Amino acid sequence: MQFLGLFQTIIRRQLATAAKSAGPKLTDVLIVGGGPAGLTLATAIKTSPILSGFKTTLVDSQNLTDRVAKFYDNPPEEFTNRVVSLTPKSKKFLTETLGVPLMNDRIQSYDGLYVIDGMTDARMALDQDGMLDMIEILNIQSSLLHRLNHLNLNEGSFEIKEEVKVTSIESSTKGDPTSWPIVTLSNGEQYKTRLLVGADGFNSPVKKFSGITTRGWPYDTFGMVATLKLNPLSPFAKLRGWQRFLKTGPIAHLPLPGDNATLVWSTKGNELSQLLIQLDPKVFSSLVNAAFILDDADLDYYYKILGENPNDSVTNESVIDDITQRINQVWDSLKNDSLIDERYPPQVIDIVDKTRARFPLKLSHADIYCSDRIALVGDAAHTTHPLAGQGLNMGQHDVEELTRALEKGTLRGLDIGSMLCLEPFWGECYPFNNVRLGMADKLHKIYGTNFTPVVQLRSLGLQLTDSLGPVKNLLINTLTAGSSK
Ligand SMILES: Cc1cc2nc3c(=O)[nH]c(=O)nc-3n(C[C@H](O)[C@H](O)[C@H](O)COP(=O)(O)OP(=O)(O)OC[C@H]3O[C@@H](n4cnc5c(N)ncnc54)[C@H](O)[C@@H]3O)c2cc1C
Repeated sequence: MQFLGLFQTIIRRQLATAAKSAGPKLTDVLIVGGGPAGLTLATAIKTSPILSGFKTTLVDSQNLTDRVAKFYDNPPEEFTNRVVSLTPKSKKFLTETLGVPLMNDRIQSYDGLYVIDGMTDARMALDQDGMLDMIEILNIQSSLLHRLNHLNLNEGSFEIKEEVKVTSIESSTKGDPTSWPIVTLSNGEQYKTRLLVGADGFNSPVKKFSGITTRGWPYDTFGMVATLKLNPLSPFAKLRGWQRFLKTGPIAHLPLPGDNATLVWSTKGNELSQLLIQLDPKVFSSLVNAAFILDDADLDYYYKILGENPNDSVTNESVIDDITQRINQVWDSLKNDSLIDERYPPQVIDIVDKTRARFPLKLSHADIYCSDRIALVGDAAHTTHPLAGQGLNMGQHDVEELTRALEKGTLRGLDIGSMLCLEPFWGECYPFNNVRLGMADKLHKIYGTNFTPVVQLRSLGLQLTDSLGPVKNLLINTLTAGSSK
């Protein structure tokens, strides 16, 4: 066995040396990252009549053709846990401009968002038919790969390098940032590229190489996701999402097809999210129901006793019983309220196994999105709190604008790696994203306090917005606009 390992290492090293000595391969565009942003850009380039002639290479450390592409032909029965709200404009860009055949039976369109302040019970209903779509990230990625695979591209026109990491990037002429960057991969291969695109997420190696500075801060908050199974008999009048701002952070319950929904539960600090992730699924489901109906004080009590007796079956049962009893009391007290079915989300009865996961949340915004030979898109350029559902949509907008800038530049005879060509892209995207990043950050801060005057003001603001049609429409517009065009 040891001999085999040694043999494999020697072969790998020899291949790497051979690849290096053959010199770097040339490509026009090298995209680092096969997440939604990177794959959308690759598809945008390869479907554009102006850009499709550019030799394009996409690199990702994950297995895209096996793990991701197979999702399209052989999707799992249950919904996966990374689900995002897609704005109508982002969806239009994917389906109409790029011709991506999304898996429609796994998408849920919904007609609005009901926002509740858990401390004061102030409420706001943002209603608009087909306001947003809930879609799994794997649906977006695998549909993009499906589109790329069926484009009948010329040999060498597009290449995916998967399960390899970018290990280093350097300018081909030292000290000259306008020279083509050389990207070295973990298998030893090297690529020399006219334009290097960082679609490589928050820890972007391309951003590090570019020296572009970033502003922002961690939120000391985790966003926990899970796929929920709903009680099919649970009455609810409208197909909408629900978001309730608790003392510990917002919890969102968003619809998926059938008796499914997706959860994003943001909680301050490490402790609570760790407890929530470890809880027995039945207690967890009860807690989700409680979080939309009961008070913060009740929730604090449940967190405390569950934390003291983790996964103790007697404690679990008594918490479930107590929650059921208290929720029933609330429902009984509201039974003459004609809007009761609109006020609360459908009841959760279980969660899909192994769908709970948590992500540290942060704000980050690159000062610029391009420099000579470099462009940043998606989470490489910005990350945000998910409470406004904007992260992926901003990335789609970046890609749309970068494609537009590359097309215009090409028609004008510009080098696609030059600042002259790239600048309009970041000029368009930066202010657009800045508004959305600022909005999510302010909401996180305003709803992250228990300071009474702020709580009163924010509740007043919520109720006023609810009653002022034009202000509400402006808010809906900002939340649903994936592109300013
Ligand atoms: C809890 C939660 C809920 C969210 N909800 C929403 C929502 O409702 N709506 C919305 O619009 N957004 C939402 N978002 C944000 C959204 O998920 C992200 O903005 C989006 O997935 C980012 O996509 P991306 O392609 O830019 O980056 P990523 O998906 O991070 O992709 C980066 C890729 O780069 C690759 N990579 C990185 N480094 C290297 C390297 N050195 N070599 C090779 N490859 C590399 C990685 O393997 C990865 O595939 C949410 C986020 C969270 C955490």
